[in-house]
Amino acid sequence: MATKKNITKATKGGETFVSLQIAKNLDGDSMEKKLQLLYKLQKIDSKIDDIYLLRGELPLEVQDLEDEIVGIKTKISNIQQEIKEKERYISDKKQSIIDTRAAIKKYEQQRNNVKNNREFDSLSKEIEYKELESQHAEKLITEATKALVTIKENFEALKQELSYREEDLVVKQKELENIAKETEKEEEALKQEAKGYQEKIDNRMLAAYEKVRSNSRNKLAVVTVVRGACGGCFNKITPQREIDIEESKKIVVCEYCGRILVSSKFEEAEAEVAQEKETVKKKSTKKNT
Ligand SMILES: [Zn+2]
Repeated sequence: MATKKNITKATKGGETFVSLQIAKNLDGDSMEKKLQLLYKLQKIDSKIDDIYLLRGELPLEVQDLEDEIVGIKTKISNIQQEIKEKERYISDKKQSIIDTRAAIKKYEQQRNNVKNNREFDSLSKEIEYKELESQHAEKLITEATKALVTIKENFEALKQELSYREEDLVVKQKELENIAKETEKEEEALKQEAKGYQEKIDNRMLAAYEKVRSNSRNKLAVVTVVRGACGGCFNKITPQREIDIEESKKIVVCEYCGRILVSSKFEEAEAEVAQEKETVKKKSTKKNT
């Protein structure tokens, strides 16, 4: 037999706005007040989400830049190695040409002192061979020098890229630092404000709110009707339901997305409050100047 206790537990764990629609024992304020509080909480939570979003992208961008810089530095160190190897190769070839020329000189001297034709021919062949060897080395040096020019151009380009990325990194790090500093206070104030509303809202409603919020990608659990459609999923709402929503006498849940739908009056009231705050701010700045 399923006890009453078990049912209550199961309902609490899986609270949704749909289950609240049928619940009659929500206590305290009028439904309109409850819905207003929920809407206000949603507004505050969305502001906190925006802060997280703003901060959330930057650490990733900084990380990406750091990774990119490591990559460029590795490429640079590989190219430096390549440059060293090419330079060594060229200097080896140059040395081999000097050696070859010395050998040719030696053979030529020997050829001046030969006793017979056979020796003369043999030395001539040696000289000819050494000359070919030297020409080949010259050709290799020309090729390697050309390649070295290209490698060095790449090297310079990479160094330039590195300095740009490093500059970017400094800027982004600074930005992240500033945002963290700036938003910390704002975040704390918003959290306090949200807490105030949470305390006033019925526990079951709050549980449903958190659940729907955590399941939705835009973190919206409470939405208004926008041009005859749900402000969360944009599916059409019947005129009768729209009337129910405007009356604010009961919980109306979007049949498609499960979000709670509230009167657009709430949004207008919210906008008025924001405007008042703005005017007060302007007045106080005027006074100060
Ligand atoms: Zn919807």
